[in-house]
Amino acid sequence: MTRVLAIANQKGGVAKTTTVASLGVALAERGKRVLLVDLDPQACLTFSLGIDPEDLELSVHHVLTKGLAPTEVILTTEDGVDLLPATIELARAEADLLTRTGREHVLRTVVEELAEAGEDYDWILLDCPPSLGVLTVAALTAAEGVLIPLQCETLSHRGVGQLLDTVHDVRRFTNRGLAVWGVLPTLYDGRTNHARTVLETIAETYDLEVIEPPIPKTIKFAEAPAAGRSILATSRSSKGAAAYREVAANLDARAAS
Ligand code: ADP
Ligand code: MG
Repeated sequence: MTRVLAIANQKGGVAKTTTVASLGVALAERGKRVLLVDLDPQACLTFSLGIDPEDLELSVHHVLTKGLAPTEVILTTEDGVDLLPATIELARAEADLLTRTGREHVLRTVVEELAEAGEDYDWILLDCPPSLGVLTVAALTAAEGVLIPLQCETLSHRGVGQLLDTVHDVRRFTNRGLAVWGVLPTLYDGRTNHARTVLETIAETYDLEVIEPPIPKTIKFAEAPAAGRSILATSRSSKGAAAYREVAANLDARAAS
């Protein structure tokens, strides 16, 4: 069975894309078949997996708005995960979809088409853009769960309520089964009490599960995207890579239970 998770937070720079790439590679290391979907017109996920969006003729935009089969666009990467890549054209897709019937369901349809084509992915991870627009709503509609990366600093709770309002709407109108799997603390500086306090406050205020372990802030992550490989490949034994492997093991266990 395919588990589809949306990695969402409308705030930029909270490590959504890093989380999608790292968790995806960690799950692939565990022998799972993984597809990552880049839903951000900035195409950072695509770029960080060693693919230059400018070299692509086909991308997720053609699947969402031009009726192309996902299997015609999916690429394999050096890191062992498959990728449905994005280019800047996706910015136009967002506008195009606004006037389309069934726009919330476009990604759910893609997931169904992959199943029908016999593509038996264990995990599909959706890298959402930093907004609560059409693409994020479509991702939440296609997913069984949402994971919220959160940088634990004073004002980070401000967006969480809004995101949860959107989740609530999605549950009501397009995807009854959507579950919040929890918040994943990212860019975490465990040396300060501050980070832990912020995290506890948010988890309590919104009644959210905290996914363990927190991902430590480390310079290795800042360097990885430029290398075109995931941190799990470039710094195999770093603390950040170890943390993502542990989160992947926990997700796997949750999916199996
Ligand atoms: P988002 O997709 O939410 O905008 P990104 O994954 O692109 O966030 O991360 C934002 C920036 O933070 C990137 O430059 C990334 O390399 C860096 N980063 C992500 N995780 C970590 C970490 N654990 N430690 C240090 N830097 C990180
Ligand atoms: Mg991103």
